[in-house]
Amino acid sequence: RGAPALLEVANVEVIYSHVILVLKGVSLEVGKGAIVALLGANGAGKTTTLKAISNLLKSERGEVTRGSIKLEGRSTTDVTPHDLVRQGCIQVMEGRRCFQHLTIEENLLTGAFARSNIGKSVREDLDRIYQYFPRLKERRKSQAGYTSGGEQQMCALGRALMSNPRLVLLDEPSMGLAPQVVEEIFDIVGNLNRSTGVTFLVAEQNTNIALRYASHGYVLESGRVVLDGTSDQLLANDDVKEFYMGLS
Ligand code: ATP
Repeated sequence: RGAPALLEVANVEVIYSHVILVLKGVSLEVGKGAIVALLGANGAGKTTTLKAISNLLKSERGEVTRGSIKLEGRSTTDVTPHDLVRQGCIQVMEGRRCFQHLTIEENLLTGAFARSNIGKSVREDLDRIYQYFPRLKERRKSQAGYTSGGEQQMCALGRALMSNPRLVLLDEPSMGLAPQVVEEIFDIVGNLNRSTGVTFLVAEQNTNIALRYASHGYVLESGRVVLDGTSDQLLANDDVKEFYMGLS
């Protein structure tokens, strides 16, 4: 075998509030530089999987009770969410968590808090983000709360990128957005991935678009991976066509 995958999730079980078993042994791998889709209907366990990876379950009274999660071969179990960001793994929450009263630029600047390479200028990174998100540049002085849903999703992603991540866990970027805006956001993800090599694990109910940009996908159903394969294999799969293509 070659080098370990960037992210290896093996047999992960998650229980909420000591009794509610939600993930029943989830395994998946994300190769360095890949875009991988985590698919499934509402409630299948996509968000829980991402939060298990970024160690954000505690505040939800959730706990990984079995299995292992490794970033470049190293267990993340005892790493705080903050230190995980420093190690290059950051989650973009569902629902576009921007600070509504701050401007777009101020929001982006808050993303620099956990940078590992503090010596590099924040301004340089901001300019780099604006290259990928011209809309954010145009709107940089606007209060986030007054920008569109798509702009707020871009802002949330841009803010995460300010931490110079290697792995971005992107939760449902298409949620509540018009198809054209969804396309625009996935285009940016594709560009970023190609030109900077940032790896993405994207949870999506919108199977069609996610598989157009991802190389591989995993389908979750009731806390289990029921299917996985290359995007082409999944797009050709009859169950995927029947149960997941019309979802969004
Ligand atoms: P969505 O598209 O709604 O985000 P999802 O696939 O991401 O769906 P999860 O949010 O991971 O699914 O939820 C999986 C299951 O876990 C659901 O049945 C949900 O009700 C349950 N769940 C989520 N958070 C908690 C919690 N804090 N306590 C108890 N149960 C929870």
